[in-house]
Amino acid sequence: MTLAPDLIERIREATDIAAVIGEHVNLKRSGRTFKGLCPFHKEKTPSFIVNPDRQIFKCFGCGEGGDIYRFLMDFDKLSFPEAVQSLADRAGIIVPKSKWDGPQEESVYPVLAWAENHYQELLAGPGGAGATRYLKERGISDYVREKYGLGWVPDRWDTLLQAMGRRTTQAMLSRAGLVTKKDGGGYYDRFRGRVMIPIRSALGKTIGFGGRTIDGGEPKYLNSPETETFIKGKVLYGLSEAREALKEHGFAIVVEGYLDVFALVQGGFQNTIATCGTAFTVDQARVLKRYVDKVIIAFDGDKAGVRAAWKSAGIFLGEGLDVRILNLPAEDDPDSYIRREGPEAMSEKLSQSPTVVGFARDVLLGQLERREDLLKAFAYLGAKIEDPIRRRVLLQEAAESFRFNESVLVGESNRQRKPQATQRKMRPETQDRVGRLYLGRLIEGIEGFSEDLLVPEEAIMESELRHLYATWLSLWQSGDPDPKHTLLNDDANRSLTSALLAGDLPETDQMEQVTKRLRDRVVQAEGKKIQHAIRQAETRGDDAEVIRLSRELQSLRGGTGIPDQPQG
Ligand SMILES: [Zn+2]
Repeated sequence: MTLAPDLIERIREATDIAAVIGEHVNLKRSGRTFKGLCPFHKEKTPSFIVNPDRQIFKCFGCGEGGDIYRFLMDFDKLSFPEAVQSLADRAGIIVPKSKWDGPQEESVYPVLAWAENHYQELLAGPGGAGATRYLKERGISDYVREKYGLGWVPDRWDTLLQAMGRRTTQAMLSRAGLVTKKDGGGYYDRFRGRVMIPIRSALGKTIGFGGRTIDGGEPKYLNSPETETFIKGKVLYGLSEAREALKEHGFAIVVEGYLDVFALVQGGFQNTIATCGTAFTVDQARVLKRYVDKVIIAFDGDKAGVRAAWKSAGIFLGEGLDVRILNLPAEDDPDSYIRREGPEAMSEKLSQSPTVVGFARDVLLGQLERREDLLKAFAYLGAKIEDPIRRRVLLQEAAESFRFNESVLVGESNRQRKPQATQRKMRPETQDRVGRLYLGRLIEGIEGFSEDLLVPEEAIMESELRHLYATWLSLWQSGDPDPKHTLLNDDANRSLTSALLAGDLPETDQMEQVTKRLRDRVVQAEGKKIQHAIRQAETRGDDAEVIRLSRELQSLRGGTGIPDQPQG
């Protein structure tokens, strides 16, 4: 849906962003901005900032940020039109119905929502009797079935294709990952004869499905393929359902499968989440870190489960989470254990979950053939932990507990760290402070702006920043009347944009100076290049080239600043 940009702007201007956010977050004034505890991640010291002058919010802890519409969309889970409407009501501005008309952007979310609903109807219908019996046998309650939106799809090639009618197209079903292309043309349903488990985003939108066979067919589980909405390594199953409980308890129980989630939630452990059939990734650990400081890994009790738990422990420790590992009998998974022993026994087991050192002593040690395997296992954990003090503490404790030679352990850990360390070196660039001030002011807007204030792209040192500058330039060149809000409403750009706008910015009359400093960088870099070329020409004995380059260097330094077309 589209709405006239001027009306969107008018409503935004009529709104006091600090007042609206202040209804949900306890904000304290600090100079020209407000500070509070971020509502999007768990924190003890405030890193959430509201800047009324710029009409933006920004969390420097989790990166969330944007304008007031974005806040309402993320916090109250409103759609954009709903957010606009709610602020319009507040400001007493009437939004004419006709203003909502316009080209509809094709989104796959409604298709996924429709499919979810259709699967649920099929489960409730006469054809769903077998699946209903299966769920009963697995001990899945109506509460869990409804909460997680379980459904059923019969064993046919065209369930959705038949049911879609004129609601959507085959191409849209394909984009949503619900049908697969046939070799000879046409499509068939991807999911057949399965209990359907909707996989939702953190905000509760269905983004994909997991399907489980009920008759022993293989594969037992089938997930949606990677689509524009479903990116396996980033999704945490059950997160949207667990959000409140995670914040309340301060820790997450992480399990391997959907059925483990159902069993634990049913037993009263609402703060349970899982991956979608893959090992936990760094991205997932980061998402989780927004909500909790601690995880209890509750994987299968068998050898494979123990191994996977240890691997995940490294990922979570690496992201600064406190890690415990549930110690289950070898023949159990969380689902079977809680069904046999009951929620209270599980609660006790969970509360007794040892740290990695305790788990190594109680469980892992018995499964390893050689002592040095245990040393390597701890070296792996140490290698994952970036913070030197936390790494040291863990390795020391392990060395003491298992009588390892500490320096051997540290050495092995560093050895395992190496390839990673060089990779990581590439990532954190030093912040380009001047570039940030410059771009922040440019985006916020400059009175009496002229092209003289633009700098070559290579004057910006941080790559992410340079990319944002290039995006701003192309918006400006294409005549976008409001590049600031275009950037703030673009998921790829809003985090950095709001970060730039949250802090102090140079006044308009300081911009000439800032611009000059950035240009000098280009001149200096260019000068270095010429000097290098001069030295090379000298070594070759190419006097003519030396003279030519020296003149170039002179004109660069004494001349206009930058050449018309700076190289590199
Ligand atoms: Zn935050």
